[in-house]
Amino acid sequence: MRPKCPLCGSPTDLLHPNLHDDLYGSIGVWHLHRCSEPDCGLGSLQPPPTSADILAAYESYHTHSPDHGPVNATDGMSAGDGNGAMTFLHNLWHGARERYQARRFGYTPAPRPVLESTLSSVLSWLITLLPGHRADFAAAAFYLHAPQELQATTSSPTARPQLLEVGCGSGKILSRMQNFGWQVTGTDFDDNAVMAARSRDLDVRSGTLAAQNFAPASFDAIVLKHVLEHVPEPVAELALCNHLLKPGGKLIVMTPNLAGLGHDRWQRHWRGLEPPRHLQIFTPPALRTALINGGLSVQELSTTGRTRSSYRASLDAQRLTAGKGNLAALPSLVLAELDEWLEALMRLRDPLCGNELLAIATASLPAAEPAAAQPPTPQLLTPKPLGNHAR
Ligand SMILES: [Zn+2]
Repeated sequence: MRPKCPLCGSPTDLLHPNLHDDLYGSIGVWHLHRCSEPDCGLGSLQPPPTSADILAAYESYHTHSPDHGPVNATDGMSAGDGNGAMTFLHNLWHGARERYQARRFGYTPAPRPVLESTLSSVLSWLITLLPGHRADFAAAAFYLHAPQELQATTSSPTARPQLLEVGCGSGKILSRMQNFGWQVTGTDFDDNAVMAARSRDLDVRSGTLAAQNFAPASFDAIVLKHVLEHVPEPVAELALCNHLLKPGGKLIVMTPNLAGLGHDRWQRHWRGLEPPRHLQIFTPPALRTALINGGLSVQELSTTGRTRSSYRASLDAQRLTAGKGNLAALPSLVLAELDEWLEALMRLRDPLCGNELLAIATASLPAAEPAAAQPPTPQLLTPKPLGNHAR
């Protein structure tokens, strides 16, 4: 019998049999199925990994490193080891990111010396020509507008808006958001990541979101950046986010796109598969359905333009299987940049063909209503609210 889609209940087809954990080497073989319903198309591991599999799969996971970055995320440049020129370039890069975030989201850049400030400003405009780097800069502010812009539209203009990042890892972005004026909280189930985040003076709680007992309607914004694909019950997780958001509060979701060009090209070598940690992989209509079933109202569903690190990891995985070594850094970087350009061109024709999905949704139910007191059970059979965004 064909396994059923965990989101819509339709039969699934075997898409990639016998997948291994090539990234972190956990032992096992997994099979990725795809929902046969075209208005869903969710990818899911069937049968789902056991709790023991999942525990083992996280033993050497990337959040254990204090300097880790989530999938596809890159700062573009690290601080170097005290070398003056490298430090200057590093500061320019950060300055450029802040200038871009100021223009797009209304944040105030940190004061910098005149030369550094001028060059940062020029660099920030040049970066807008590079679709992937531009998206990195936006993702580094979680696509959220500055608190002062948000406060202007709320009834309590003096309070610092509350931001929660679920699966915040070592808290690199959360720390910057705190400096930008948000009151920040994070969660992560990885104790080493939690310790690293706390060393940045962040309020980060250990464990799953459900284990935290946050009060209803606590947050103005919640971010799930490359988290939803890891969660065993994604609709229940989204419903809980809806419950924890103030009415009208924003949920930001970033997750790999199974219906994107990256998977089309790399197939079983695609970085977004990441068995067995990615329990399900969304498509645009599947993500929309999951958000709606979680009680949220979808404001925007798009793809971001970031492919570089996914491209390089997928290329290396393919070469490894073919018995070749990793491609040297420079050609690999150049190819990855070209890939982002190519994807940017393709996204002009089809905005949902990108490698990474971005959804912005708002909490739609008043949290005080009894219906919102407990997260609703995920619905197996969904309506078809997909409209023009289905693909
Ligand atoms: Zn389905």
